[in-house]
Amino acid sequence: MKKRAEKRRIVLVPLPLQGHITPMMQLGQALNLKGFSSHNFPDFEFVTIPESLPVSEIEAFGPVEFLIKLNETSEANFKNCIAQLLLQQGNDIACIIYDDLMYFSEAAAKEFKLPSIIFSTTSVTHKVCCCVLSKLNASKFLIDMEDHELQNKVVENLYPLSYKDLPTSGFGPLELYLELCKEVVNKRTASAVIINTTSCLESSSLSWLQQEFKIPVYPLGPLHITASVPSSLLEEDRSCIEWLNKQKPRSVIYISFGSLALMETKEVVEMAWGLYDSNQPFLWVIRSGSESLPEEISKMVSEKGYIVKWAPQQEVLEHRAVGGFWSHCGWNSTLESIVEGVPMICRPFNGEQKLNAMYIESVWRIGIQLKGEEERGGVKRAVKRLIVEEEGACMRERAHGLREKIKASVRCGGASYNALDELVKFLNTE
Ligand code: UDP
Repeated sequence: MKKRAEKRRIVLVPLPLQGHITPMMQLGQALNLKGFSSHNFPDFEFVTIPESLPVSEIEAFGPVEFLIKLNETSEANFKNCIAQLLLQQGNDIACIIYDDLMYFSEAAAKEFKLPSIIFSTTSVTHKVCCCVLSKLNASKFLIDMEDHELQNKVVENLYPLSYKDLPTSGFGPLELYLELCKEVVNKRTASAVIINTTSCLESSSLSWLQQEFKIPVYPLGPLHITASVPSSLLEEDRSCIEWLNKQKPRSVIYISFGSLALMETKEVVEMAWGLYDSNQPFLWVIRSGSESLPEEISKMVSEKGYIVKWAPQQEVLEHRAVGGFWSHCGWNSTLESIVEGVPMICRPFNGEQKLNAMYIESVWRIGIQLKGEEERGGVKRAVKRLIVEEEGACMRERAHGLREKIKASVRCGGASYNALDELVKFLNTE
């Protein structure tokens, strides 16, 4: 094959949410470093797919219905975008890589005879669960889940995953969600799947998916180690790093529930009291638009903690003062915490986050999950267990062990490093 002097372009189609944009940009950066151009500043070019759903309609939809409609209505506009790109800049598109939730993208790839690759920004175990769910019948599953034995049945040789762990909660009506799962796991004409994970974290799920998909699967993560690219949609408040600089090593609990999750006032108040009573310093992200703390509690909390609207999370987790991460267990946050060897308190909100929390607590054993309703006594206890007690020290040790394995996997010759290399070879032959 002749080596091209010019970089070939790759079209990346992210789902426009923080947790999906960040890994997609990191993937773009990783490929850019390997000789592809992906439409880093200045090597990225951003193209907007024209809006296909009126804002008034969007507000009436739940998240799953919205995603299904978005896919139904974006196909034609995306085809036009690709046609324009091909017309303006020549036929140099090596591949269209799309977020598995943006499955409408495949139709354009097919029409213009371009290779396409699916990118999954969640864990591979989550992807496996979607495959399992896509084959279920909603009403039968709901009846089955009333049976204790069936609830605890292991899913397709994937111990410790049982049917009750399948991530269905928080996504609205089951039937609609299963419909979305079918679309997401439908590989259509895609020639490969990229997953932001690494084999030392989820080897049995990876083998399962490889067998199921029968097209190459590239577990080349965690991408945030391989590539660093500014991708925050909100302004990061860096003053918290100065505050962290004044704290003792491993004393601080960092609290953030990602870019979407919302807590009720009652829970926020109980958390504030529990954190205050724990006597440990804490850094707490409370996004604007989410439930704010009542004034008097906010004053009290600022004696022992620091509150920001949005933090430079990776830098926070890297900081020597941070001893634990209280997280909603989004996949990016989970990977970022493991890579810094920081143990976690898990407060998942939806099914996918619950799945990650289960792996954090029961498989990797690097965190604890709060059971039942969150009240101040439970909050204080969890912080003490993680930051002060022996139990937390053991979790930290295991997290450090995982960190070393993960770092080895992204170094030259490691599993994720090789997966990225293989992907590049694959793209060059397509
Ligand atoms: N994040 C951040 N600052 C914050 C909170 C979150 O930069 O104050 C980043 C975090 O590092 C992660 C992303 O936002 O990369 C959240 O993604 P995740 O998958 O954990 O959760 P989601 O927001 O999708 O629920």
